Amino acid sequence: MCRHAVSRRDFLGQLVLGPAGASLLERASHRAAWAQTMTPGAPTDLFEIRSAAEGVYFAFARPQAVTNCNAAIFVNSADVLVVDAHSKPSAAAALIAQIRKQITPKPVRYLVDTHFHWDHSQGNAGYRDAFGKDLKIIASEATKKLEAQFTAARLRESLDPHGHPFPSQPHVPALLEVARQQLSTATRPEEKAQLEERIRQLESFSREMQNFEPVLPTVTFDTAYVIRDKAHDLHVEFHGRAHTAGDVVVFCPQKRVVATGDMVLGTLPFLADSYPKEWPRTIDSVAKLDFDYVAGGHGDLQHGRQRMMSQRNYIEELTERVEAGKRAGRPLSEIQKSMTPASIQALRADGYGELVRAGRDEAAMQAAVNTNIEHVFRRLAES
Ligand SMILES: [Zn+2]
Repeated sequence: MCRHAVSRRDFLGQLVLGPAGASLLERASHRAAWAQTMTPGAPTDLFEIRSAAEGVYFAFARPQAVTNCNAAIFVNSADVLVVDAHSKPSAAAALIAQIRKQITPKPVRYLVDTHFHWDHSQGNAGYRDAFGKDLKIIASEATKKLEAQFTAARLRESLDPHGHPFPSQPHVPALLEVARQQLSTATRPEEKAQLEERIRQLESFSREMQNFEPVLPTVTFDTAYVIRDKAHDLHVEFHGRAHTAGDVVVFCPQKRVVATGDMVLGTLPFLADSYPKEWPRTIDSVAKLDFDYVAGGHGDLQHGRQRMMSQRNYIEELTERVEAGKRAGRPLSEIQKSMTPASIQALRADGYGELVRAGRDEAAMQAAVNTNIEHVFRRLAES
């Protein structure tokens, strides 16, 4: 792609999305990933299912115009537990079909919302529609409250042409506008096909979610909810505040797998609803569980603790430096300027920087880190 096309797109991003333009720049770096999925002849399944241990599967969400989270799938003796529910009921239905086809005909009896975010809970209705009153939707009490408070309101903003979507939530009309503008000047047939597919996905999300009503968790708990099954035990546990006020993990001691939602994931963490001073300690507590595999809400399946500790250290370092800057009375923009990705130790250690860079160039990486810094800056005042 020529330079002109990139700067034009970023200009459009600023124009249409205003202050959210930076996240468009970030999205542009994932362009190659979704382009790959949207190539004619590419697999149409929304998820790539991999085995993590006996009876435990990792459903890796393929890139889409509107993100889906990954899911962890635990096959019990007579039923199934799924961790996290994606961005829309039809994505949940797609995964249910894949589970039946590729894993087991057993019904999903338990669904866990690791936290309240749209891309992990808006698919609850898809599971309820498929499995009715036998389905238990499990979450922390805090997550249920946050879903009741924010899911519908934030979705409205993300679908309203004049809305102000919460960071990380797509502003669908603006994204459509950008994609249509790009299509009007695209010349290569391959690029045109990709943009047409992107527009199709955005329009279909918009249509599906127009009259959406959230389905809330049906079972809540304070610290732990344990399912003892002949196949294995499943511990749904709250270890403290982290990515949100209500994150839970699902730990299977026999299969040595922990599903962590976005508390521990294979991409840069997202901090806009987070508790940055508590998050590292919460990860320390989860790290004490006896597991080999970490199934995070985005990015790849992780082996061991190295990546989770890198992420922990990144959040801690970022928070300490932002806090010091704030104490010295420095404004956000100055703190951002002083914190280049190269200056952040945690990004240089153990290949963590390369992992979370995900194809971003230097400017996009700085923009992504700036977003993290901004969210920490705000959350230090709020939480
Ligand atoms: Zn997520």
